[in-house]
Amino acid sequence: MGRLDQIAMGLSPQQKLHQRYLMARQVAFAGNYDAALPSLKAIADQTVDPVLAFRASATVIDLMVAESRYEEAFAGLNPLLDQLPAVKESDVRMQGLGVAAQLYNEAGQYDVSSRYADQIIKESTDAKSACRGWFYKSDALFERGGAQLSADQLRDGTVACGKAGDTLFSLSFQYLLAGFDMRQGRPESAIHVLQASYPKVLRAGFPPQISEFESTLAKAYWKDGDLASATKFANNALATNANRPYSESTANAYQVLYEVDKKAGDSSAALANLEKYVAAHDGYVSRVSAKALAYQIVKQQVLAKKLQIDTLNKQNQILTLQQKLNKKAVEASRLYIVLLMMVLATIALWTYRIKRSQLRFMKLARRDGLTGIFNRQHFVNEAELLLQYCRKSSRDACLVLIDLDHFKAVNDTHGHAVGDRVLQRAVEACKTCLRSTDIFGRLGGEEFGILLPECTLEQVIVRAEQIRVAIASAATGENAPGIPISASFGASSVVHSGYELRQLMIHADAALYRAKGEGRNRVSVVDHPGFGDSVPRDATLGGDAHVLQDASMFRSGDGQANA
Ligand code: GH3
Ligand code: MG
Ligand code: MG
Repeated sequence: MGRLDQIAMGLSPQQKLHQRYLMARQVAFAGNYDAALPSLKAIADQTVDPVLAFRASATVIDLMVAESRYEEAFAGLNPLLDQLPAVKESDVRMQGLGVAAQLYNEAGQYDVSSRYADQIIKESTDAKSACRGWFYKSDALFERGGAQLSADQLRDGTVACGKAGDTLFSLSFQYLLAGFDMRQGRPESAIHVLQASYPKVLRAGFPPQISEFESTLAKAYWKDGDLASATKFANNALATNANRPYSESTANAYQVLYEVDKKAGDSSAALANLEKYVAAHDGYVSRVSAKALAYQIVKQQVLAKKLQIDTLNKQNQILTLQQKLNKKAVEASRLYIVLLMMVLATIALWTYRIKRSQLRFMKLARRDGLTGIFNRQHFVNEAELLLQYCRKSSRDACLVLIDLDHFKAVNDTHGHAVGDRVLQRAVEACKTCLRSTDIFGRLGGEEFGILLPECTLEQVIVRAEQIRVAIASAATGENAPGIPISASFGASSVVHSGYELRQLMIHADAALYRAKGEGRNRVSVVDHPGFGDSVPRDATLGGDAHVLQDASMFRSGDGQANA
């Protein structure tokens, strides 16, 4: 230390911390624990050197034991032992293992202490470490009692410590040997061992050790019947232990003094020493139980912590599993959603296609293929509906039947295809004269029907005349193939024929028949009740008989009108 002081200026911060550690140990050895402890704790916190931190922490535990702060000592021991696997330096490991062996010994955990001692013996690479290991081991076995400690083991330890030249531990070993002798009932042998080492013990100057030697010597002399020496060493022990009133050696010294006084018949002195013995003994015993208690408390705390960590780990595992599950569930539900959407889209597409073709078929079913206007069936349905509405609202309505003139001749002269075009053109011409509310349909061949709501008999003559002119002029139109066409018209009104389509048809057909008879290309109307009733049905048809022949369509039309 003196040499270090001389070169202190040139030391690095880490080296300075190391120097402070050595100084703190020196202060502690001299018995000034209160001064050494904060310094050692600071070094353990500040240093970046794990070895120095380990050494300082181990020394802190040592001092805490010396100060009877067992709970703190045990609390510090666990983290220290956790670091142990990472420590490679043999002497540093020895220090850590030594602290553990010693602390467990103090707490009465002799088996645990003995295991650490075995570890020290096993790992020791030098005599000094082996000596300590043997000492801790022997001490644990000695304290534990029973037949475990043999004289051979003690001899091994003595040899190891003798080689090591470690004064403190060699002396402690001698003390252990003496204790063994005492237990074996050989006080004279114990005195021999202790007296041989006593001067060295005094020179070493470690007060706890000195007082142990002195109190055991007192006991041995008492057993051996040398009361004067017993009293002398008992008093020596008490003087050495002035600061440690509750140690085992203090209790032993008072016990010896008590026995001596009792034998001498000095009962008052004996009583006083007995009281002091009891007080010291109680204090010592309570310190021992405090150690055991601290050990148990810290053990429970460590267990609780471990349990907590285990629980947290388990919770963590559960959470991780849950997260994985959730992820899988999300992926699965995404897949389901996509599948569902695809299925829905397919269904929607199919529904749309089916609906579209349904609509197309419905349209086709209602329309005439050649001209695109209502076919006969649909015309009848729509006309009947409209007539019902007109009847309910008492509105006028007229029916007009149209039949192209000499159409057969067109087909015969120009061919069927031309006849088809003429039919289409006639329809286009009709359309130009119709309102949106009028119902227009092809009833068959070259015959057409128009139901005109809100139309009087006077008005229907004008409207039919317009259509007639339109058809007649279609032949002379720009795109016409030059085939002259005309049509004859028969009209009937709800005023004379009523709202039944069937009757309106019969009357309009009769009028049409009259128009044909009067030279064609003209309009004929039903202008009085009973018109055409006398006309025989076949006769009304002329060469084109199917309007009235198909009067049955009204019956079937009735059924379909609602459909
Ligand atoms: P009328 O002036 O007396 O009515 O004489 P018409 O020749 O028009 O009378 P008829 O009933 O004898 O002839 C109608 C002809 O219409 C018979 C048929 O060949 C023709 N026809 C019927 N439907 C079609 C069709 O879709 N296309 C064509 N090109 N001709 C048709
Ligand atoms: Mg005709
Ligand atoms: Mg005809």
